[in-house]
Order: sequence, then structure tokens, then C-alpha cells
Amino acid sequence: MLFDSNKTKFVFVHLCKEFNFISKIIKYSIMSKITLLILFFSLAISCKKTEDTTPTTTTGTVDISVLKDKFYSTSAFSSTVTATVEGDFLVIKTNGIPDHKSPYFASNDARYQAYNGTNTQYRKNPNSIVSQSLTFKIPLKPASATNKAATPLGPIGVSLNGVPFFNQYAGPNQPLTNEADSFDQFAGHPQNTGQYHYHVEPTNLTKNKGNDAFLGLLLDGFPVYGPVENGKVITNSDLDAYHGHTSKTAEFPNGIYHYHITSTDPYINGSGFYGTAGTVSR
Ligand SMILES: [Zn+2]
Ligand SMILES: [Zn+2]
Repeated sequence: MLFDSNKTKFVFVHLCKEFNFISKIIKYSIMSKITLLILFFSLAISCKKTEDTTPTTTTGTVDISVLKDKFYSTSAFSSTVTATVEGDFLVIKTNGIPDHKSPYFASNDARYQAYNGTNTQYRKNPNSIVSQSLTFKIPLKPASATNKAATPLGPIGVSLNGVPFFNQYAGPNQPLTNEADSFDQFAGHPQNTGQYHYHVEPTNLTKNKGNDAFLGLLLDGFPVYGPVENGKVITNSDLDAYHGHTSKTAEFPNGIYHYHITSTDPYINGSGFYGTAGTVSR
């Protein structure tokens, strides 16, 4: 009996060991299945991310959602602008129609006004203002980019009235010198698809909002201010290579990096985006 009992015990212990071993194998296989599942899903997610058009951006500490309500539509001009927070982005949709008159509207349009500016060299370009469908997807928490990218031709940002900002070039590395003569009395003009834009200070906006006001955003999420700060006219020498600096502003009492528009080249942006640019779709 004793032997038998020991034998039973032995067999039982052995069985238990086997069971433990088998259950360990099962556990491992479950764990490896879970691991595989996790791997699969993370792969799926990262694959989705690469397929997605969502730009990858570095997240900064300052949230710019406070600027959302500064963008406005003007029904009298059929200018429509919306700004909404979507995830990590401020999404601005605009038809790009200016909220002021221009010689680039058709002469029978109520928004038409013949050139009455001060440039004696003014010559109208052959284009007319055409309604656009622009969507700017701008990082909500802009951060300084490790590698500062050059600004592209075409929209580099958007002003409060929904008109895009363009950079300081008329074409690849071509200065604005000649193109500037086609700027209307409010310092904008349309390009060949009829997209109206500002390369320089949007004078109607600074007249209405103030020379030191927040005027819009560049694609990297950093705000653009007028040519004056604390009663002082800002010049290029007050700003870094990207045409900005960090200080307190009316909207950001704790300070933020921001661009200033100056009266001389490069006007809005210097040698590229300070942060990582979002996207603009047309
Ligand atoms: Zn232009
Ligand atoms: Zn400033």
C-alpha cells in the first residue's frame, strides 16, 4: 500500500509537472498569440499611419485653439471661412475670397474697385479672383522643428479673412520685384488659377485689426502678427532667420514664438518654417 501510494503520488506529481509544463506551453502559446496580435495591430496602426495624409508633427507646449474664433467670414463679399479643432489640428477651410474690394473682381461686380493705390508702376496682371476650396490643417501645439523646411510656392499660411499668405518669391528663387507691381490697393493679387493671396502686409486687415494685431497663421501653427509690437515698428533685425521671435503677445500672455510682417523683404517668413508645417489641400 505504502509503495502503491508512493507510486500514485509519484505518478500524480509527475502528471502535475507534465500538466504544468503543458499549461506553460499553452500559456506561452496564448502569450505569443497575444504578442502576435499586439504586433499585428501595431503594425496595422503604423501601416495606416503611413497611408494616412495626416502630417506627423512635434507637439509643443502652447495650444493655439484660442485663435480659432479670430478667423471670420464676410457674407457681403461671399467670403466663407471656418476654423475648427479636429484632433491635434486646427482645420481652416476657406474659399479664399478677400473681404475687401479689388480691381481683380469683374468690373460689373459690386466688389470691384479700380486701382486707387500709390504705386505709379501698378499694372494689373491678367488674372481674376476665383473662389477656391482650401483646407489648411495646422498643428494645434506648434513646436520648433529640428530641421527647418523651406516654405513652398503657393499657400504657406492663412490670414484671418481666409486669404492665403504666400512667401517672398514670385517663382523658384525669383524676387517679388516685378510681381509687386501687380499688387492691388490692399496689397494682394490673384495667381493664374484665380487664387488671391498676400506676399506682404494685408493692409486692409492691419487697418481694421491694428498694426500690432494677430493676423493669421503659417502652416506650422505659429501665429503671424502685424509690423508693430509694444508701440515699436519691428524690422528684420529684431527677428531671427525665420522672421520671428519669442515674446508675450495679447493672445499668449505666457509667451509664444511668432512671426512678424515687416515692410521690407522677406516680409512674412524668412528662410523657412520655424516649426513643422501642416498641410494645405486644394
Ligand atoms: Zn503672388
Ligand atoms: Zn513679437
